[in-house]
Amino acid sequence: MAAVKDCLFCKIIKGEIPCNKVYEDKDTIAFLDIHPINKGHALVLPKKHSETILDTDVKQLEKVMAIVKKIAGVVVKTVKADGFEICINNKKAAGQVVPHLHVHIIPRFNNDGLRYDWATKEYKGNEAKEIAGKIKNLL
Ligand code: AMP
Ligand code: ZN
Repeated sequence: MAAVKDCLFCKIIKGEIPCNKVYEDKDTIAFLDIHPINKGHALVLPKKHSETILDTDVKQLEKVMAIVKKIAGVVVKTVKADGFEICINNKKAAGQVVPHLHVHIIPRFNNDGLRYDWATKEYKGNEAKEIAGKIKNLL
């Protein structure tokens, strides 16, 4: 898919909007998140527009993840992080605000105060077995 007219990240890729770029090759670009969760928070994305991992071809994803690995190591070194998170929000319900696939690299520090407040759910009876079975059958 070509650049999408109203897509913020397509505009950054085209150079129409500035960013703090840390990496670029023919298929991939990476820049610092403008609102970092911790300093060094970076985004890695394919230049070819797609919204989620489901509409991105596997070859593109492989390239992006190879760059994620490379950049994560350097980010950790640069900001002296104790760990890091890799995350992709897919669709609005999962927190995706910019509908152009991007991988977050979020440096983490011991006791940095960030935490997930996700309440976990419980499966009832055979529910887990049934859901696992349905997923397995569709793969
Ligand atoms: P998501 O919620 O996964 O779609 O994440 C979108 C991310 O893009 C957020 O963390 C924003 O802070 C970041 N962001 C939005 N605008 C810009 C921008 N102009 N340059 C860099 N990062 C941006
Ligand atoms: Zn785009």
